[in-house]
This record gives sequence, C-alpha cells and structure tokens, in this order.
Amino acid sequence: MNPGYFVLQAVILISQLATGDRKVPTVQGKRTKSICGYDKCPVEKPGVINVHIVPHSHDDVGWLKTVDQYYYGSNNSIQAAAVQYIYDTVIVELLKDSRRRFVAVEVAFFWRWWKEQTKAIKTAVKRLVDNGQLEFVGAGWCMNDEATAYYTDIIDQMTIGLKFINDTFGECARPKTVWQIDPFGHSKEQAALFALMDFDGLFLGRIDYQDKTNRKYSKTMEMIWEAGHPGDRTSLFTGILYNNYSPPPGFCFDSYCSDQPIVDDPHSPEYNVKTRVADFIKYVNEAASAYATNNILITMGNDFNYQFAISWYKNLDKLIRYVNKGTSRSGVYAFYSTPGCYLNSLSKANKEWPIKEDDFFPYASDPHAYWTGYFTSRPSFKGNIRSTSGLLQACKQMSAIFSHKSGPSNPLVLLERAEAVAQHHDAVTGTAKQHVTDDYVRRLHEGASSCYHSIAKIYSRILPQEDSTQPVHFRHCHYLNVSQCQITEHEGRFVVNIYNQLSMEESLYIRLPIRGKSYVVLNQEGEEVLSQIVPLGPGVRFIPGRNSTATSDLVFLAERLPALGFRSYYIMESKTVLRKNKAGAQKSSSKFTRVGKYSEDVSINNERISAKFDGETGKLHEIVIDGVAVTLSHSFLYYKGMSGNNSRFKFRASGAYIFRPNGTDADQISEVVKLNVYTGPLVSEVHQVFSPWLTQVVRLYKGAPYLEFDWICGPIPIRDGVGKEVVSRFTTDLHSKSIFFTDSNGRQIVKRKRDFRPTWKLNVTEPTSGNYYPLNSFMYIGDSFGRRIGVVVDRAEGGTSLRDGELELMIHRRLLFDDAFGVGEALNETEFGEGLVVRGTNYLIGNFSSGGTISQHYRQLALKVSKKPVLSFAKTSLSFSQWKTKYKFEFAGLKRSLPANVNLLTFEPWETGKILLRLEHIYQEGEHPSLSKEVTVSLEDLFTTFSIVSMRELNLAGGEIHDRMAWNGMKHEKTHLRKHDYLEVNLKPMEIRTFLLTVEEKI
Ligand SMILES: [Zn+2]
Repeated sequence: MNPGYFVLQAVILISQLATGDRKVPTVQGKRTKSICGYDKCPVEKPGVINVHIVPHSHDDVGWLKTVDQYYYGSNNSIQAAAVQYIYDTVIVELLKDSRRRFVAVEVAFFWRWWKEQTKAIKTAVKRLVDNGQLEFVGAGWCMNDEATAYYTDIIDQMTIGLKFINDTFGECARPKTVWQIDPFGHSKEQAALFALMDFDGLFLGRIDYQDKTNRKYSKTMEMIWEAGHPGDRTSLFTGILYNNYSPPPGFCFDSYCSDQPIVDDPHSPEYNVKTRVADFIKYVNEAASAYATNNILITMGNDFNYQFAISWYKNLDKLIRYVNKGTSRSGVYAFYSTPGCYLNSLSKANKEWPIKEDDFFPYASDPHAYWTGYFTSRPSFKGNIRSTSGLLQACKQMSAIFSHKSGPSNPLVLLERAEAVAQHHDAVTGTAKQHVTDDYVRRLHEGASSCYHSIAKIYSRILPQEDSTQPVHFRHCHYLNVSQCQITEHEGRFVVNIYNQLSMEESLYIRLPIRGKSYVVLNQEGEEVLSQIVPLGPGVRFIPGRNSTATSDLVFLAERLPALGFRSYYIMESKTVLRKNKAGAQKSSSKFTRVGKYSEDVSINNERISAKFDGETGKLHEIVIDGVAVTLSHSFLYYKGMSGNNSRFKFRASGAYIFRPNGTDADQISEVVKLNVYTGPLVSEVHQVFSPWLTQVVRLYKGAPYLEFDWICGPIPIRDGVGKEVVSRFTTDLHSKSIFFTDSNGRQIVKRKRDFRPTWKLNVTEPTSGNYYPLNSFMYIGDSFGRRIGVVVDRAEGGTSLRDGELELMIHRRLLFDDAFGVGEALNETEFGEGLVVRGTNYLIGNFSSGGTISQHYRQLALKVSKKPVLSFAKTSLSFSQWKTKYKFEFAGLKRSLPANVNLLTFEPWETGKILLRLEHIYQEGEHPSLSKEVTVSLEDLFTTFSIVSMRELNLAGGEIHDRMAWNGMKHEKTHLRKHDYLEVNLKPMEIRTFLLTVEEKI
C-alpha cells in the first residue's frame, strides 16, 4: 500500500477537523486542565461487564531486525515490519472517528516518525493527543528490560523519552500508566522507579504460569505493589493483562493474521456477526471471571501490528457495534479505550486491592521454560553496555561542569540514545539476532567515540596554562578491556589523565598495559609514585582480535583523586631517564610457580584479607578476613545445555532466553589448576589456568576490602556437539538455610529462598534454572553467626545459591539450539572465526565477625565498578617540568566530597543554563548502623565552575511533580513536595531526589 495515500487522506481529514470542534482550546505548552487527564474517557455502563478495547502495536526497538530496519521496513524477508507506516496509517484512522483510540509506547520510533511529519500532520496529531485518542503509555525511549538493566540506565532511558513527549506535546500527553507487556519477568526496583516517575499504574504481560493460574482463580490479577521501602512513595497499582498483550484468539484483524473479518451483510454467504459476537462474549466472560471489577482490558494488537490500520479499526468498529446491540441480553458493553481510561474506571470501583511485596522473578512460561538464561546471554555485550553507561555518566558530568552554558551537546545525545536503545528487552537481554546485536554495538561505539572526542576537546580547552599556546591532544584507549593501548605500549613518555566521576575524593588503582621493563610514574609535584609491574594474566595474550605488544600491566595508586575531577600523571619508561633511589620507586613483582600434587599451599595477603590456595589442586580453599577464617573453595563448572526440538514442553532446548541444563549438576572444568603467583608492594596475584579456554587472575590490592576474580572464558568448546553454560561457584561452610539475597536492578536487596515463591506454592520442575535470579550488582549469603559473604559483579549475570553456603554465578553461555521463543538463532556467539571469548570481573567480599555487615563493602564497590574512572592519554616529548609549565595537572568539579552514603546519580546539562541533578542515598533502611541514616547534602557553594541561581524539585523522570491518583487501599495516596531549605537536600535511605538547577558561571 502506498503510504502517500494515507498522508493525502490525513490532510483532507485535518482540514475537515479544523472547521469542526473548536471548543477544545489548544494553547501550545499551556493547556487548560479541563482537557487533560481522564475526563475524555468513554463512559462505562453500570451493572454490566465493561470491555476496554485497547488497540496497540508492540514495536521492539530491535530484535529480529535492527532499529532502522524496523522503522523503514527493510529486510522484510526476516519480518514484514515497518513502524513508519504504523503511525502513518493509525493517525489517519484515528482522524476518521473520534471514538477510536491508540496506544503509543516506544519513543525511539515515534520520535523518528514525528520529525518527518508536516506541520499540518503535527497539528492533527497534537489534537489527537489532547482529546485522548492517541495516548502515550510508558513513553520511555524503549520498553526496557527489567532483569539485566541497571537502574541508572532505566532512569536515563525513561527520562529522554518522557522529555521528548513533554517538550513536544506538553502536559496533556503525560503518560499516567506504563505497560511492560513483553519483558520476561518484572523487578521491584523497576516498579519503584515508575512510581517515582509519577505513573499511576503499571500493566504487565508476562508472569510465571503457575502464579498466573492462581491469580486468575483468586481474582488477584490486579494489586497494589509495595515496590520500595516503608515510608517511600513507591506503591504502584499493577495489573496483569489477561492474554499477555495479544488479541483474543480468533480476533486478530491485522494484515498479518488470517482470522475471519466481521461480515455483517446478512445476504452474504460469509455473514458471521452472530457467531463472532457470541465467541467474543464467551471470551469476555471467561476473562472477566479473573478480575475483581466489572471492567476488563482487552489488548487488540501484537508485534508490529497496525501497519494497515484500517483492517483493525474497520473490524473493531463492527465488533463494538454488534456487541453493544446486545448488551441488555449479554451484559457485555465494549468501547475503545486506553490503559489510562481503564485505570480511571478502576479508580471509581472503590476496591480494596491485594498487596504484593515480592517481585516477578524468575519468569516461567511452562514447566521447562524458565527464562533465566538471558540473565547472562551475550556477556560481552552486557559488559559493554555497563561500561558505556559509566562513560555516559562521566561525559554528562564533564559537559555539565564545562559546557553548562550551551545545553546538551550532540555527542552526549548520540551516546545517550545508543545507551537507551541498548536497554530494550531484546537488547541488553542478549535475545536479539546477531546482526541486530552488532548494530547495537555499533551505536554504542559511535556514541562512546563521540563522547571521548568531546572529553578530549574539553581537555584541550582547559588544560593549557594561561600563557601556554601549545595545544594538547588527549586520546582514549577503547581496548583497555583486553589490555591494549597504543600510547602506553609504544610511547616512552606519556601523560595519563584520570577523571574520577565519583562524588567523593577517591584513591583508585590504575592499570596500564605496557611492554617495557621499568617505568617512572610522577605525580603533579614531580614526586615518583610507587608502582609495580605485573605480567598480564595467562589468557590475555590469547584473546582473539587483540592487537597488542603489551606483556605486563603497570600498576600504581592514583591517590585522592578529586570529586568530579581529574589529575594527571606523567609516566616515562625509565631507560630514558636517570632513576633516583627513592622510597617511592618502582618495585617489580616476585614470582613463583606452583603446579601439580604435593606442593605447599599458597597464599596472598593484605592488611585485611588472606586467600589460601590448595597446593595440590591450585584452587582457592580458604579465606581469612580480619583474622577470621572461613572454608571457601572456588571452581569453574559447566552445565550441559539441553538440546531439543521444542515440539513439546519436555523437548525444550536451552537457548538465548531459556536456561535448561540437561542434568542435575554441572561438571568441573578442571580438577587441578596451574598456578603462577606474583607478589609485590601494591598488588598480589594468583594466575590460574583451568583449561586452555578458561583462565583467571585472583587479585588482592593493598588496602582493598575485596578479592578480585578477573576471568577470561572462551572459546567454549562445542566439538562434542554439546552447548555449555559456564558458572563460577564459591562454596563455603556458611549454613545459609536456603536463603540468599540478590539486588534489584543494582539497587534494593531482595531476599530469595531456594525452591520457594512468597505468594504461591511452587511446583519445582526445573530445580536449577528455577532458582536462578538476575544480578546487576551483588548477591550474598549469611548465617546465624552473623557471617556474610557475597560477590559484586561488573555486568548483569544470573546467580543462585543451589546449596547452603554456595554462591553461583553464570558467566558465559554457548548453545547449539534455539529455544523457540522467536529469535530463531542458537546462542552460539563467534568472533574472529571462533567462539566468543569473554573477560569479566567478580569481586568477593565478606565479613565473618559476629553481627558484621558487608553492606558498606558492596555498596561502595558496586558504585566504583559502575562509575569507573575515565582514562585519557597524551604522548609527549616534553620533560616533566616543561609539561608542568605548560599544562594544568589537576581539576576538581566539587569543592568537597559528598557524604559516603550519597551518590551524585545524575549531573547533566538539561537546557541552556540548566543542569539536572539527582542525588541518591545508596543504603537501604537498616542495612548499616550509621550509613543507613538520613543524610543532608548541602549544595551551598559546592560546585567550582558555577553558582546555583535557583533550584526546583522534579519527579524522577525530570517532569513536574504530580499528585498521583488516590487509590482506595493505597497507603500513600497523595504526595506533597517535601519542604527543603534552599540548597539543603535531605535524603532518606534509598531515596533519589531530582532537581533542576539554574546556574550562572563563576567569575
Ligand atoms: Zn518485545
């Protein structure tokens, strides 16, 4: 169908509308309250079942095709999907009849469509938004995943989508509901964040099949989700949709479908009104029996539906008309509606809703389909997304500090959107096709490059001393993750600039790949800093695609890096200079090797921790923290992925979504591990070789309260025809009594119990995968003696505790079968002609003293891991003193550190002269004796480059704060802005507060 036809039709209809209803005032950016909100909703009938028919299209921001291919309709042999035509044709159909409605969700697509439209169409669309026919729901940049997305990224991706809608349509378009109709499980933190964004209701598509059966039976498909912490305003009405997000069987009127249209000519042999209406009413009665009010929501749409919208609306018009002709007999009344209008109807029902306090993980769609594989699928991509997220935050900060006058810059927008797209529920999940994942990676790389470029430009502007005219060019090493960097490897003299994006002064260990034997590291005073050379881990040099001559890492401690600031270090290879015999000079690492039986135990130690390795096996077998020892063994194992043709539940294969091992436990990868041990003044390392495809460095820095496990995994061998899922398992003697704790999107902690669900009696059909939960930051276990041990992760991973005392994390998966949930590819990632090699880090933390806490360690460490320093490099021929006369060595964005329990979550240019600031309390109530307390942050004279002229509080998504809908039974009915003294911000445990600062440059 020629889309030009629809545009023409739209223009005709717009001109008709322009002379029609003039009662509705549409003042740009300032609409009167009477036309906003729910007062345009259809009026339901009392005493009958009111059927809210919700037309919608679920448009994945990349899955089987890339975002661009989906938008334009290219590559249609994979999937006939073109989002541009959806909006083209839906708008025309809405203009034809003011009763028709449509739900718009993914702003990444809508934004593209909008910018291509003429003024006349834009005007028409604005009217459709104002009169409630086109309702935005959620309106994030995408519909983000809830298991593997980090909270910072969720907030960011929702913020840019909602900002676009607000800037374009104003208050009337503000979504009051959000629907997460396709994500594979739902988190508490996500619901809490939505509540803080002022949504009134959340609709979910997929929940566990056992849970859903119970809820249907007990009419508890709708509830109030207490998603946050006591005292927070994080309760949210939550409803489970009856048929995920699909239409009733037999009622798909899309051009994709072959269901029968409604034929209402009684003379036609195809006439079917009576049977079609009867079938629909039967379905409605069945659905209504699962819900507590006389309203039900029926989704009419599916993936990429409504490209030929007339086929939907023409048949829905008829269906509604004929159903309503018989309302007095059937007791069923149908009308076009939206999630917002449905919620409006429910609010009038005066119901007491049941309360939910746990989350919706893991999600199972049948007895052998636990969607827990995607917690780990595509681990390199997940790592890439997380590290790019950290870069984005640093880039935002530097733009806010140095370019607040000009508002958000193009490089920032490019990275922000790439990161937002990557949060989609088929992106970060690792469940998109390979070519689509490649496209996500391309976007991230382009965004990261442009951000690095803008950081380099900032340095070239601010680093030269006032009388210096010599430009300086800082560059970035994109491949530090594989210990590769052109400048540090090949230059005899270079300067590294370390930007600390934490809001407190911090000392950080820096590792730079080098090939020389001896280096001098100088601080800004010209003093030599203690450094150590450590050989690269045994697997690093064999990472495919690595193009590096580096053989070692140069390690030094960058001390007391300023908050939101940087410091330069001048580094030279020492054969080019005379070494002075100083205390701070370089120390090399001493080495010894242990392998095979009858060797003595090996240990590495720092002030707090001692890790002991068994001389016979080479594996970790004991850890001592603050003088208290605990038996702790560590090993790598793999599950064999189930193969199968998916023809029946029991033949389900392990795949991109599903984790289904074919046995009860995993196989050890190696019984005996080869060891090399390196010790020195800054760091001690045990280099372990488990197999040719699995190596690890166990690392202990001086002063560090954690033990680092830097692993390299792959290519996972598959020559035996068996897919494998590799896990890192820590076994201790803690009696954890089936209990373990996992984070929710990197924020609140959720208690888990093995083989147990808090709200229904679980029938255990998959004892391993059914106990897996998503990790974004950490998991831990404890015992009745108060001993605690946990692991912090550097990216999303699946984790569990299958036996008391055990912590298990899945780090990599390579599978040979598709699991038949749509992606149509086995998760068999290859790169450089062989199976994908992944490098990642887990950090072990513990406290074995009675009544001890590890919260301080995991909270601080998780923050450092997600907000790593940004390193920039410049080669130079200047001596240290020449460099120092020409360039500055140090800069601080904050005049003082923020308190240890506060994170400066967001600091970004919003508009010209305005900065968005989010402050976050990173501790949960009762988590730590002192750090969990309320805290006050003073913004008075805090920033070095600008002063705050005024500030105003916004909701979490950067919108105006609204009173949320008052629900009967909801504890926190209305919210009023907490009073705060000017520039003094009070934060309760886990609280995030968002402010818009108007700033002026300091003279
Ligand atoms: Zn989807």
